[in-house]
Order: sequence, then structure tokens, then C-alpha cells
Amino acid sequence: MTEVTVIGGGIIGVCTALALQREGVSTLLIERGPIGGEATFGNCALMALSEIVPLAKPGVMKKLPGWILNPEGPLAIRPGHLPTALPWLLKFLRNARPHRVAQICHGLGMLTAHAQEDFDEVIEVAQIENIWAENEVLYLYDKKEQYLADRFSWQLRADEGYHATELEGGALAGVESDVDTDGKFGLIAHGWRSFTDPQRLTRELAQHFTRLGGEILNAEVSYIESAASRPKCVHFTDGAQRDIDKLVIAAGCWAGQLLKDIGIRIPLAPLHGYHTDIADSGVSLSRPVLYASGGFVNTPVESGLRIAGTVEIAPLDPEPNFRRAEVLVEKAKRSLFPGLKHTHGSQWIGARPFMPDTLPVIGPAPGVDNTWLAVGHGQLGITMGPTTGKLVSAMITGRSPAVDLAPYRADRSYV
Ligand SMILES: Cc1cc2nc3c(=O)[nH]c(=O)nc-3n(C[C@H](O)[C@H](O)[C@H](O)COP(=O)(O)OP(=O)(O)OC[C@H]3O[C@@H](n4cnc5c(N)ncnc54)[C@H](O)[C@@H]3O)c2cc1C
Repeated sequence: MTEVTVIGGGIIGVCTALALQREGVSTLLIERGPIGGEATFGNCALMALSEIVPLAKPGVMKKLPGWILNPEGPLAIRPGHLPTALPWLLKFLRNARPHRVAQICHGLGMLTAHAQEDFDEVIEVAQIENIWAENEVLYLYDKKEQYLADRFSWQLRADEGYHATELEGGALAGVESDVDTDGKFGLIAHGWRSFTDPQRLTRELAQHFTRLGGEILNAEVSYIESAASRPKCVHFTDGAQRDIDKLVIAAGCWAGQLLKDIGIRIPLAPLHGYHTDIADSGVSLSRPVLYASGGFVNTPVESGLRIAGTVEIAPLDPEPNFRRAEVLVEKAKRSLFPGLKHTHGSQWIGARPFMPDTLPVIGPAPGVDNTWLAVGHGQLGITMGPTTGKLVSAMITGRSPAVDLAPYRADRSYV
């Protein structure tokens, strides 16, 4: 029997399977759809080292009513979904207090600190070519006052060792020739990388896993059966089943039902985002542009210019509201790219697996001795994939993990 079964073939599950395999553990990866076909498919494609400041921060309470009432604003709640989302939302807001925000930044920073090295390792072993650019990222504010009002966030990043270079006037004007920087204020954040295609990255890592003898099963787990309080078998929607020895649940936003099967509840919510990929956009960027005043990101990817972001709190697997993607493109044309040739492109919705304290869950399943969780990576799953994989594999193989995992325990207080 395979020693470890991993459920979920997004960036987190694939990196976990690969890390286990590299430790000599026989591993089965189960994915119901294409590898990297969900949240991992269409994100902003960034190894976003210093993007550690949570959305819930001081001041969010004042902004929330305006956001909720504006269906085209940066954060929206689907009409009718508020009562279901409320318990999660209250926890999320309680995490916006300054001391919590500092703890959360530190918790995320401890993980992103390993991202460069851990990524280098997997890219090298899997020999993936042309997958990233060693990139700085340009943050843009419409006005310097907006940046000054956001100094709290920049101080938190600096406290974790992430510094940025401020740019304005003539110095900013020359940085990206296709971007309207008139009157704006910019910062360059260093050490980031942008991927040309995060799904290809994940698929190629998965291919490497199979080349080395790992098994990938294309099937949907419908139910985890336990005996003597530990999972012993996974059942599939086609009626088949498979015995398991050790289990890792890395099923992104869909982990909740599987966790219920083994008696575990964690406050995991899908925070949906959108993108439009515009081929032949007429805009050439040498680095990603994070439009801080608009709350979205513009990344050059294989399929063109990707304009992505926004947060929509809605049920799992909702009907997409692609108006949210269109709003981003309209804002981008109006405020950033006067030369944008087209406003149409391929649109996508994806769900960030989000905990109310923005920290992932990486650790043993409470009270179950053969199961580990790797879920809830929120806005930073691509960045943290290889690091999470190594941490989970260290726990399973009995080595001491490179990071103190206490802040990411499943049985922590989510506030
Ligand atoms: C708009 C947007 C922009 C983002 N930008 C960035 C960014 O620039 N940088 C960054 O680091 N992160 C970013 N993120 C976040 C990142 O995309 C996610 O954190 C990450 O992809 C989560 O990976 P995952 O493997 O946990 O989940 P997923 O990629 O969703 O993978 C989970 C997998 O589990 C499978 N699965 C679920 N249930 C079952 C089952 N029962 N049986 C079998 N398989 C199952 C699913 O099919 C899926 O493939 C962004 C997200 C969004 C939405």
C-alpha cells in the first residue's frame, strides 16, 4: 500500500507530494480535475514575498459597509450570503486589531522567508524552463497621501525585513513606459518573482513527480471512511475505493467536507477572485504592477496581460459575476494603461482558501494520528507551496520542521 495519500492537486498538494517523494516516501496524489485547475490556475502569478499584510487591518471596519454596498468595489459579499458568512466575517474583523495584524504578518513572514530557496530547489530538480522572471514589483498609488495613509502596512513589511524603494516624479516616470504614472506615487518591492503560468508550473512539478515513480489518480474523493478514529479508506464518486495508511488533505476550498468526514471543523471560506487575460494588449510591462489604489494586479504572463484581483465572499462554486473582472479592466484602462488596445479577454473566477486570521493551516489533524492538513493558504498559496510541502513532509517523516509550526495549528484560536 502507498504510504501517504495526498488529496488535492493544486500547488499545495503537488508540492507536498513532491517533497514526500524526495524523502523516499511512496506517495499517491489524488486530483479530481486537471492538475492546478482551480485556485492555482489563474492567480496573479507572483511569488509575493512581502505581501504579508492581511486584508483585515485597522480601518477595515470603516470601509466594510461601503464595500458591501458597492457590488463593484474591491470586496463584495454576494447578496443573500451574508448570514452564512457572518461568523467567519466577525472572526476576520476581530483579526484586524493592530496587535493581531502584527502577529499575522510575522506568521506569514516566517513562511515567505523560505520561499526563494524552496522554490529554487523544486524548479531545479524538476528542470522547469522559462517559468519565471526574477522580478521586482511596482506598487502604485494615485497620490502620495494614499501611500502615507497606508504607512502602517509598509512599517509591518519593514519589521519583517522587507524594504521597498520609494519613487515619484521623474524617477517614477521612467520605470514603465506604458504606465500612466502622472501624479502617482510608486514603490519598488524587491526579491519577488513572477511566473509565466502558475498552472504550467504546477503541472510540470506533477510531471516530475510521476517521472520519478509517483502515482497520480484522477478521481474525486466523495467520502473518507474511518475506523478506530483514523481514516482507513477513501471512497470515490465513481464507486471505487482505496485503502490508506497516512493522509494529507490539501483540497483547497473544498477541504471542509473532507475534514467533516473525520470530525474536524475549521473556519475555511472561499474568497473568490477574478482575472482577465488580454492577448495582444498593446501594453508591455517589464515587471508586475500592483495598483494599490485599485486593489488589483497586472502581471505579464504567457497568455498576455493578466489583470487580476478583487475579493468576493460567496458560496463555494458560485455562478461567476464576470462584471467584477470587467471593472478591473476598465479601471486599468482609465488609471494605468491609456494604450490598452482591448478590454476583452479570457475571464476566470477562482477561490482563495481563506482562514479568518489569514494564516494557513499546516499541521497534524487534531486527534487523528495519521492525517495532516495543508490548507487555507489564502492570498499566498503559490508563494508558500514548496515551503508548505517541505514542512508537511518533515512532520510525516519525523524530522524537525524548519519553521515553528505553532501559529499554523488546526486547533488554534482563529479569534
Ligand atoms: C485572483 C487571485 C490572485 C492570487 N494571486 C496570488 C499570487 O500572486 N501569489 C500567490 O502566492 N497566491 C495567489 N493567490 C492565491 C493562490 O492562488 C492560492 O492560495 C493557491 O492556488 C491555493 O492552492 P491550493 O493547492 O491550496 O488550492 P487549489 O489550487 O484550489 O487546489 C485544490 C485542489 O484540490 C482538488 N480537490 C478538491 N476536492 C477534491 C476531492 N474531493 N477529490 C479530489 N480532488 C479534490 C481541486 O480540484 C483542486 O485542484 C491568488 C488567488 C486568487 C483567486
